[in-house]
Amino acid sequence: MKFIDLFSPIVGQAGLVTDPAALRAHNTDWRGRYHGDAELVVKPSCTAEVSAVVRACHEARIGIVPQGGNTSQCGASIPRTGQGEIILNLSRMNRILETDWENDTLTCEAGTVLADVQNAARRGGRLFPLSIASEGSAEIGGVISTNAGGTAVLRYGNMRALVLGLEVVLPDGRVWNGLRGLRKDNTGYDLKQWFIGAEGTLGIITTAVLRLFPLPHARATAWVAVPDPQAAVSLLGLLQARSGERVTGFELIARMALQLVLQHIPGSQDPLPEPSPWYVLVEMDDTDPAADPQGTLSAALDHALQEGFVTDAAIAQSEGQMNALWALRERISEAQRLEGISIKHDISVPVSRIPAFIEEATARLQEQFPGIRVVCFGHVGDGNLHYNLSKPDQQENADFIRQTPAVNRIVHDTVDRLGGSISAEHGIGQLKVDELVRYKDPVALELMQGIKRVLDPQGLMNPGKIFRATTE
Ligand code: ZN
Repeated sequence: MKFIDLFSPIVGQAGLVTDPAALRAHNTDWRGRYHGDAELVVKPSCTAEVSAVVRACHEARIGIVPQGGNTSQCGASIPRTGQGEIILNLSRMNRILETDWENDTLTCEAGTVLADVQNAARRGGRLFPLSIASEGSAEIGGVISTNAGGTAVLRYGNMRALVLGLEVVLPDGRVWNGLRGLRKDNTGYDLKQWFIGAEGTLGIITTAVLRLFPLPHARATAWVAVPDPQAAVSLLGLLQARSGERVTGFELIARMALQLVLQHIPGSQDPLPEPSPWYVLVEMDDTDPAADPQGTLSAALDHALQEGFVTDAAIAQSEGQMNALWALRERISEAQRLEGISIKHDISVPVSRIPAFIEEATARLQEQFPGIRVVCFGHVGDGNLHYNLSKPDQQENADFIRQTPAVNRIVHDTVDRLGGSISAEHGIGQLKVDELVRYKDPVALELMQGIKRVLDPQGLMNPGKIFRATTE
């Protein structure tokens, strides 16, 4: 039976994508690194339809690639080629189903765009804190499935900390309704945690109950020049000692990263008169409208200036300036893409070891690959760096990309030696399947494979992601 005849009785014509151009877009990731060949994208409009589609795939042994906004950094939402998989896209399921302001929760379908969740919370005077560069197109199901992090993890935690309940369609089509808005529930295993960060390999998240927080009413943002990463770590300690949880953002940015933004993003401006090798973008919030985070931040920066771990700083004086500073940070990935091909890493180490990681990895890379450009930025408070490499000016793209395994070895060996992780917030997808086997504790990997076998014995849920596929 043709795919289309199998699924059109379930989702109707409105739920099927067969147009070649649209199919191509669904089969390609945003970086243009992965190309699938799914002949069909199925777009269910409700959980019952997802369940029926999954059951049909289970019976016909068809692999399913769940997809939301298709903003994965590691090819997690793109099918493999030659495997006859379908894409199950959740974008039509984009309703906010319930808000409970006294419980501080919002319940929405998996295809709801992250920015729409943030806006709905804000309309109720609440904050949904998760913030990532792709929030205008990333959808909640994908954000949960990758346990996304972003720029506010320091204060509010990553996605795992923000999900209270889930509804999931299991690989055989059964629906698990775990849609509870509870902060305490000790009735055995916390099953939702299996699906958070599982990258769609255990089932399809269809609805979620999310945690909300009080909306901050006062905000201060500063662009701070620091001499080196150790100074950034010291500054974080100073700010947290003085302001605790009010420090909500603390982003490290290498000069090279800023330079690419200034070069490629029209209208961007260097906030400081003199270049510095490193910067920190600091944000402090307060829920008290009468609070003066700007005064607190300014006093702390003065102190740091005297201590020598800050060399200059610009504090935003308006909402427009705050947004301009954040744009410099958020557009680094885009600028790097415009500059050309790059080898990316999303690593974490204990915060205290960030300086050692940058120093060791950079020294070893520059020794082995003269001229390589380190475009390093990330979330110092979470010990998470995007340690990206751009090619030397003179080198051809293809030659540079061929060196990826050797570059990865240096970076990931350094991470491993320092007790870190090779994927802090992007996930494994297709990109890091082999690296996971290399670095993950073998007992942990066995346990993960055991859970996979219990839930998805046929290996039909996002095959070839996280694990090497068992169906090939
Ligand atoms: Zn990040």
